[in-house]
Formats: sequence, C-alpha cells, structure tokens
Amino acid sequence: MNAPPALSLCHPVTLSPCHLTRLAPSPTGALHLGNARTFLINWLLARQNGWKILLRIEDIDGPRIKPNADKQALQDLSWLGIDWDDGPIYQSIRLPIYQSAIEGLLSTGQAYPCICTRKEVDSAASAPHADDGAAVYPGTCRNRFATVDEARRAAGKPPAIRLAVPPGTTQFTDRFRGPALFDVARQLGDFVIAKADGTPAYQLAVVIDDAQSGVTEIVRGDDLLDSTPRQILLYHALSLQSSIPHYTHVPLVVGPDGRRLAKRHGDTRLATYRAAGIAAGDILALLAHWCGIATKARPTKAADLLGSFDMAKLPATPIVFDGNLTG
Ligand SMILES: [Zn+2]
Repeated sequence: MNAPPALSLCHPVTLSPCHLTRLAPSPTGALHLGNARTFLINWLLARQNGWKILLRIEDIDGPRIKPNADKQALQDLSWLGIDWDDGPIYQSIRLPIYQSAIEGLLSTGQAYPCICTRKEVDSAASAPHADDGAAVYPGTCRNRFATVDEARRAAGKPPAIRLAVPPGTTQFTDRFRGPALFDVARQLGDFVIAKADGTPAYQLAVVIDDAQSGVTEIVRGDDLLDSTPRQILLYHALSLQSSIPHYTHVPLVVGPDGRRLAKRHGDTRLATYRAAGIAAGDILALLAHWCGIATKARPTKAADLLGSFDMAKLPATPIVFDGNLTG
C-alpha cells in the first residue's frame, strides 16, 4: 500500500510539543446554528491556546453525502471568520488505509465477521438493552467463522466486521465534563467497524485519521460522548494508544422540544441566513451569547471573540433555540 498522504503540521515524531485539533464538517448537510456553535468553540479554544487546525471532510457516508455540501461548509466557516491551517483532507481518498487497518484487526483476531441482521440483533432474546434503548450486540458471531469468506458463504452476502470488545471499563478525563467512565462490552457489546458494503464505520475512520494526522485535541458536541470510549478501544486495538488525544465534549443546541437542533425546528442553516441578508456579526452575536460570552461590542468576525471567550463560562446545559435570532 502507498504511504498515506502527508496530512499534518504536527507529525507525532516532531520533537517540539505541538497541539493539533481538527474541524470536521460532514457533507451530509449544511452547517446550521448548532454545529456552527461547536465549530466556533473549537476554533476559539485552538486560537487561544496556539493549537494548529486541520480541516477534514468526513465524506465516507456514501448515500447521505450531499453534492457541494463540502464547499458550502468551507464557505460557511469562512463567513464567520473561522479559518484553519491545513486541509481540507477528504476521508474518501483514504478508504484503502481504513481497509488495511480492518484487515489487520481481523488477522490478529481483534475483529470478526458478523452476518446478523439488525432485526436479529434487536430481537435476540438474550440481548440486554443499553441505556438509550439500542440493543447490545450479544456476540452471536464471535468465534463463529474462521474467515470472512466463510461468513460470506454462510450468509450469501458480505458480512459486517465487528470489534471484539475486551471486558472492563474505559476511562478518560474530558476537558469540559471531567472524568468519564464507560463499559463498552456491557453497554454496547462488540460494535461494527465496517459495514457489510465495506464502508468503514465513522469510529474507525476518525481514529486512524486523527492518529495519522497527529491530532491531540478533539472538541465536539456531547452527542458524541459515547463514541469516545469506542474510539479509545480502537486506539488500543490498533496499537495507537500513545496517540489518544484529549477530549472536550460541549453541550448541544436543542430545539424547544429538547431534541438536537435539526430540520424539524425550522431552517437554521447559515447559508439561508446569509441569503436572507443577515450579517455574519448577527449570527456571531447569538453564538457568542450561547458560549457565555458577554460581548461589549457587536462582533464582526470570530476573532473579535478571542479576548472574551472563557471555557469556564461555557454553559454546562444544552442551549435552547426558540427560533429567535436575537437570543
Ligand atoms: Zn453476528
């Protein structure tokens, strides 16, 4: 296999200490107020602390990718004055790298093929249920097939690949939320690292990308908090544990119904506001308010908030957006 493309300003072998974070818009939709706030927090933390910023487009979720959503995301970020130092890099050109990692995990017995359907997993009588109601995978296919080919022949179609999750707890200290502890084997079970169609799971792709890019700081919405223990398990499985980054999970923006901001709450896309003639400063003023920033002057670009942003003042509970731009 060819060496991966050079990605990073902060290669792990660099002797000088270097912090790198990444902005990773997913081109499955346009940036809205909710993800704009998370990107702004990530950017402010980076620029306050001297971290470099890598832009990464997470475009391996084939059918859900919207044409030009990547370019739109870059435009939206730039409109707010959010910049980056390297990238964009696209996950879609890195598929052979993920594939090679999956094969490595299969060859060491840390992953295995699974032919269970979703329905079978959900209805497995012995399956306990995770806190969020999702069925815990009961391990049906662990030790069931000697090879992926054998699983393929048994099912008459390609299998998914699951990580054999070791028993025990996974702990980390979140920079915003403090200590966190999960038991992935009990709460989730062996999880999918490649879908039956060969697409690598989000968890696997981001771990490999972050490790190879030398990402040391991950800032994201707390809807991804329960992804973190899975990703930490993958760092270990891939012998990348020296590259496990620091995590900062921040509360989300929700609608009046308490659910994560989405289409059902109306059109909150940045592009829509921009097209309607609303100034970036008006959006930034609202985002600043949501970040606990008491702005004296109206901001016109993200950098205007650098002097007043304080992580300690970031609200610890979700922000409720009622549709009113003036907050
Ligand atoms: Zn299975």
